[in-house]
Amino acid sequence: MMYNPAPMYICNTVNRMGKQNGSCWWFVKAVKWIPVIFILTVVMWSYYAYVVQLCFYTVDNYVQKAFYLFIYHILFLLFLWSYWQTIFTDLIEIPDKFKIPDVEMGKVQQAETEEAQRQILERFAQDLPVTNRTMKGVIRFCEKCQLIKPDRAHHCSVCNTCILKMDHHCPWVNNCVGFHNYKFFMLFMAYALLYCIFITVTSLQYFIRFWKGELDGVGRFHLLFLFFVALIFAISLNSLFLYHCYLVLHNRSTLEAFTPPMFSTGKDKDGFSLGKYNNFQEVFGDNPKLWFLPVFTSLGNGVTFPVRAQHQGTPNTYDSMGSTRNSFGDGVNFPERLCNEDTHTLLGPTTQQWGDETELDSPPLYGSQSGIV
Ligand SMILES: [Zn+2]
Ligand SMILES: [Zn+2]
Repeated sequence: MMYNPAPMYICNTVNRMGKQNGSCWWFVKAVKWIPVIFILTVVMWSYYAYVVQLCFYTVDNYVQKAFYLFIYHILFLLFLWSYWQTIFTDLIEIPDKFKIPDVEMGKVQQAETEEAQRQILERFAQDLPVTNRTMKGVIRFCEKCQLIKPDRAHHCSVCNTCILKMDHHCPWVNNCVGFHNYKFFMLFMAYALLYCIFITVTSLQYFIRFWKGELDGVGRFHLLFLFFVALIFAISLNSLFLYHCYLVLHNRSTLEAFTPPMFSTGKDKDGFSLGKYNNFQEVFGDNPKLWFLPVFTSLGNGVTFPVRAQHQGTPNTYDSMGSTRNSFGDGVNFPERLCNEDTHTLLGPTTQQWGDETELDSPPLYGSQSGIV
């Protein structure tokens, strides 16, 4: 069957349109900061409501006041520090060896069949440390960035670049969450949750007294709102944080939780899992003193990742016809096996399209709004 080059054409058109609409670029860039400004505004107001209205004007006991202020400020600083790091940590560049030269890229774009394209990519990637493939068993490459995607990397249409170990694009931090800042993102959620729980618990008795009319004053409404807002944020953050704890312990990104990575042996949602403690260390590092501080301690380089034993020794062993060259497994022809799996998994190819914008079997415009591509 002839390979339909339409998706590639659409992709280029989008790129060209992006450049043509450059005058809107600053406006779009500014709009993306609105969620961050909203969060910071709420946090600054909560500081005033808690420190001034609650601690200074309402709490009478000096010991209690000092205790509240001490714990509050520790959580406040850790929260802001983690938030800052999540937002402003620079992306880690994908090494040059993954970038496809223009000559090779031209050949890929001019290839008339999918098989021809596969052969060119396989040849280029034969020395690269990549084990993941698309659902069809093809080398994963990003046409926009013109590179072979390292394992676990995905293209983000909001950031317009490929992100190492991409988890998702988060509008609340106006940044991609990936290898470079996943630890910070986890700590940001943890400290935000603790911050909200602490405010909720310590303001509860004053909330009840105000509610009953036993206390009065101009700060009454600040405290009422403070309690409600902290409670709502705590409830919302709780499920998200617990979900990401689960992902960390199972060594999955959010994208991989929806679409398991593809190895030579097929899909494996636990392909990168090395046991719960090792998985935790991969994100938080091996120095317990630094686990809870937002400084970068994640293990590895974000480009290659340890895989479970059954996937070891299999990278770059696919020849141009797609069969395995090493002695791994039973010599089953790789593409045939994947095709069979695809036909048996109704949601498989669909979710992969959602998760991976520029793979060969994916319409490139999918997921462009969410940024999780
Ligand atoms: Zn890309
Ligand atoms: Zn992004």
